[in-house]
Amino acid sequence: MKVNPIAVRQSVLTMLYQGKASHLGSNMSAIEMLVAMYSSVDCKKIQENAKDRSRILVSKGHCAAATYATMAHFGILPMAALETYHKDGSVLAGHVSHEVKGVEHSTGALGHGINVAVGCALGMRSRGITDAKVLALVGDGEIQEGSIWEALMFAVHAKLNNFIVLVDNNRISSITNTEKVINMHPLAARFQGFGLNVHEVDGHSVRAIQSAIESIQTQDKPGVIICNTVKGKDVPFAEWQPIWHYKSLTDEQYREAHAHLESLKVNS
Ligand SMILES: [Mg+2]
Repeated sequence: MKVNPIAVRQSVLTMLYQGKASHLGSNMSAIEMLVAMYSSVDCKKIQENAKDRSRILVSKGHCAAATYATMAHFGILPMAALETYHKDGSVLAGHVSHEVKGVEHSTGALGHGINVAVGCALGMRSRGITDAKVLALVGDGEIQEGSIWEALMFAVHAKLNNFIVLVDNNRISSITNTEKVINMHPLAARFQGFGLNVHEVDGHSVRAIQSAIESIQTQDKPGVIICNTVKGKDVPFAEWQPIWHYKSLTDEQYREAHAHLESLKVNS
């Protein structure tokens, strides 16, 4: 199934606007990553909750709008469900929730989802499921959590070659630049030092991310894909602006961003 990331971005923009929600920056940066992840698994098995399905864990749980929009564009959720995002009574809350069909685990407390993902990878291997994989999406601020590195140590120790981590390396953590909080560079060398198979790609190239996923699957150890992204991607007034972790869209900003995305869609 081919999904246009710009179409997903339009859905996310409308969800955030209509739901009066924040986290625009973090949602927009991860869209190509999510499209690459869902395009690399059997979405029908996820929808059916099949025991031998691949698992996608969105550990940076605040990119819920992008996760739900991508799931809907891949047919896992009905598109109409997106209209309820962040509204009273809806299960589509502002952080990823397992109450939504097709979601593996509720996330939001950072550094947890990746550990559940490692458990899934171990469990699948112990049950002899060899044709499925576990993909975990983490933020570049999130990887400052110690629990992330505990997960990686175990994944390498257990040689979980069905386990792949994708880092949304948008260089912004909450309200400031990630490296001002804790400088994690050189990031690739740190992951290599932990024994992972490391790829670094343009995080807005679905094809590049897909290729890295395919490459890691041929290796005998877990892998990480550092996806270099732009926080607020394709919303010009929000790109690289930390404040868009928190702000919600005015009517005028929504119209401006929507028109820009429409022009990108026409040219894509
Ligand atoms: Mg970040």
